[in-house]
Amino acid sequence: MKCPKCGFDNPEDVLFCKECDWRTDIPYVPERKPNAAMFCALALVIGIAAAALCIKDDTAIAAVVLGAAGMVLGGYAVNLPRLLGGDRKTLLTLIAGVGLMLSMVGFMLGLYEAVL
Ligand SMILES: [Zn+2]
Repeated sequence: MKCPKCGFDNPEDVLFCKECDWRTDIPYVPERKPNAAMFCALALVIGIAAAALCIKDDTAIAAVVLGAAGMVLGGYAVNLPRLLGGDRKTLLTLIAGVGLMLSMVGFMLGLYEAVL
């Protein structure tokens, strides 16, 4: 009875793996962590796009929509590196933070442009 989690070769009749205590009759699906770097980079890209769009009058609405999305994503991404831990934590938080701020700028200036 090979353990689905750790691969340990258990005797046929065991229910729990002798090595890692995993139930041998339950398939093991590795836990997938969200990719912090990907989310932080995306928050920055959306922030830059929202800030760029809010400058022009005819793209102000797009800046508002993108800025709103960027604020939601940025708010999530800015906490992700700290929650997941690991190296580059400070850098990734900074990148997401800049993206979040740019999204706010794009949202507010876009709204200002669209209303006026
Ligand atoms: Zn095991």
